[in-house]
Amino acid sequence: MPHSNGPSLLHNKKSADTPIQVLVAEDNLLNLKLIGAIITAQGYKVLEATTGLLGLELARRHHPALIVMDIQLPDISGLEVTRLLKADVDTADIAVVGTSAHLAAGDGATQEAGCDAFMPKPIKISDFIELLRSLVIRGAAAKGPRGVEAANGPEPVA
Ligand code: MN
Repeated sequence: MPHSNGPSLLHNKKSADTPIQVLVAEDNLLNLKLIGAIITAQGYKVLEATTGLLGLELARRHHPALIVMDIQLPDISGLEVTRLLKADVDTADIAVVGTSAHLAAGDGATQEAGCDAFMPKPIKISDFIELLRSLVIRGAAAKGPRGVEAANGPEPVA
């Protein structure tokens, strides 16, 4: 009987002890709660930011596996936050999905800023869950060696 080989990223001991974190940067509270509820239902921990700068700060402090990044935020745009994170070696490996009701934002702009994917609004829940799973696995894999290092070493200094 064949059995799967390769690491199961979501079921090893380390992952079970340390919940995978997903940051949601979204200024529309209804969207924030909806997206957060979907993520929580998948067993991930949600971090919430309603501004770009808070999103940037939480991403640097907590190094989530994935960020769901609204493009239109009240201070600096989600594209700007993504550019800053992708330009920084400490946060470049965090997966980012840009999201917007304006299709123009998905038309190259999010990719140019460094987003790993684009999700149009209104959000289609089944599509979002699929995207969430694939990007979280990628983000957790990218985090691997440094995650171990960080767990064994002193508190990282930004
Ligand atoms: Mn917005």
